[in-house]
Amino acid sequence: MPVNLLDFDAEGLTAWFAEQGEKPFRARQVLRWMHQRGEGDFSAMTDIAKSLREKLQTTAAVSPPPTISDKLSDDGTRKFLFDVGNRNAVETVFIPEDDRGTLCISSQAGCALECAFCSTGRQGFNRNLTTAEIIGQLWQANRALGRDPANGSSGERIISNVVLMGMGEPLANFDSLVPALRLMLDDNAYGLSRRRVTVSTSGIVPAMDRLAEACPVALAVSLHAPTDGLRDKLVPINRKYPLAELMAACQRYLVYAPRDFITFEYVMLDGVNDSDADARALLHLVRDVPCKFNLIPFNPFPASGFHRSPAERVRRFASILIEGGIVTTTRKTRGDDIDAACGQLAGKVQDKSRRIARSAGFATESAGISAGVELHS
Ligand code: SAH
Ligand code: SF4
Repeated sequence: MPVNLLDFDAEGLTAWFAEQGEKPFRARQVLRWMHQRGEGDFSAMTDIAKSLREKLQTTAAVSPPPTISDKLSDDGTRKFLFDVGNRNAVETVFIPEDDRGTLCISSQAGCALECAFCSTGRQGFNRNLTTAEIIGQLWQANRALGRDPANGSSGERIISNVVLMGMGEPLANFDSLVPALRLMLDDNAYGLSRRRVTVSTSGIVPAMDRLAEACPVALAVSLHAPTDGLRDKLVPINRKYPLAELMAACQRYLVYAPRDFITFEYVMLDGVNDSDADARALLHLVRDVPCKFNLIPFNPFPASGFHRSPAERVRRFASILIEGGIVTTTRKTRGDDIDAACGQLAGKVQDKSRRIARSAGFATESAGISAGVELHS
């Protein structure tokens, strides 16, 4: 089996080259070809000795997950579906905005954490993605999107930001995630600033500390409730790492973070977590954590059992947070027409654990909840 070089960050690639009796600068050259130029064919890496190119063609490969589909939404959002084998697919969404282009990538096939309002969580867990499958989403999307035409072929990349907000819990796949993050930051690869790479977590406290040490990038924490009682139901990992521990972990993370605030994500669920009292309780909860809030209108999926809060409710909720001194934005829902919105990412996943959709105290169907997205070709 050829070794997939997309599995290595710079350090890993240098070590692998050393095992082959090759110098570190060769690893650097190959890294640049693969990630800066998006080249997957060793024979095209023209400044590398022919003998090495031939050797690489037999021992190594550049194998991103193959593209199953690539759909463009009316609002410019573009959704890719990638094949990660065994009839599993993961989704990657590109969101163009005036001043940036954000790629939302997946970290796992499915998710084991079963948040009550999340389509991915409802589908159960299949497996962690490899580093090659995580970085391969960026590799593929960069190739598909190219560079800014205003700047010609050597211009700025269209993808300026990466968020780990697709399928899966990134911090539950720590060992594959970190080399992928390092490649995103590496000047010989994607060269993104730490502030433009965001990991979103449901709050796996020990892994937040490890991330701060290993590769501090911007952090978003999925909060969704102001009290342990409610959060235990909505985000079941809260039973293991309750709010007081989560807030303390956020404070510790900020010592290392490239930004001086944590982003709290908060999905607005009609009649569940969207009252004035909830907003006031949030102000109290986060009083010692420099933060911003990003309110996410709930994106429905079949048999979710939840409804989106009315726009007026979201405005009122936001105004309480703002009056309390917290910068608060409300996420625009994009890519609705292609099921590319948050929490609708649910490429067909074979649930190894055969978990059925268990509800966390909310009315849902007990099994066979249909995926928001099926495999297309
Ligand atoms: N597992 C990580 C990252 C992926 S989910 C996490 O939970 O943070 C990315 C964001 O989408 C999270 O804030 C998640 O709570 C939110 N989300 C999940 N389902 C949603 C839905 N149906 N509507 C709106 N947001 C949703
Ligand atoms: Fe997993 Fe995040 Fe969905 Fe929760 S919200 S089930 S952690 S992907």
